[in-house]
Amino acid sequence: MKINHHPDASTLMSYAAGSLPEVLSAVVAAHIEVCPRCAAEVAEMERIGASLFERIEAVPMLEPALGANEKSSTQELAQLLDTRFAAEDPDESVLTRLLGRELSDVHWKRLGFGIWHHPIQLSPGTQGDLRLIKVAPGQVMPEHGHGGSELTLVLEGAYSDETGCYRTGDVSDLGDDVEHRPISDPSEGCICLIASEQKARFKDVVARIFQPLTGL
Ligand SMILES: [Zn+2]
Repeated sequence: MKINHHPDASTLMSYAAGSLPEVLSAVVAAHIEVCPRCAAEVAEMERIGASLFERIEAVPMLEPALGANEKSSTQELAQLLDTRFAAEDPDESVLTRLLGRELSDVHWKRLGFGIWHHPIQLSPGTQGDLRLIKVAPGQVMPEHGHGGSELTLVLEGAYSDETGCYRTGDVSDLGDDVEHRPISDPSEGCICLIASEQKARFKDVVARIFQPLTGL
């Protein structure tokens, strides 16, 4: 798999520190599984983070300042780094674990002409939206922006937008300042895993009217 688009360094760093929102972390975890380059970067960031913690704890002057709460949150952070999306079964992918089934067994719901989706439940109270989107070949999505970050991982096929062409394994890491109109590959279409911190902002009036029905 030739991967050309990766999450931003700041996104990987937040993921490694355990501070990236869960909805975005799910997409990063699924990408890392297929991208040795990002997996190595995250491992290195985690190693540096862990050694910083060790150094802080080794400074005797700071020890009296650390109360019981600070110590427990440090321990919780260390646990979050590896376990949040790691598969218990080594043969099970992050995506299969998120879906509770194989991608081929997903029950798609029609969202519009040539577009299907499958919302994914995260932990109760988690902010943001995580879903699979399946788009027929050559389909144009309505132009939209976002109130927060949007991470998209291509699982099958490809799509293009104003920021580039994204193929299987690629990640699009968009901030809230980008508006885009994705178009799926004319022969393959695409299936993507999309995480949004907040709901999309559609320019098109019809898309806005139907937005409450779709949950997008
Ligand atoms: Zn990568």
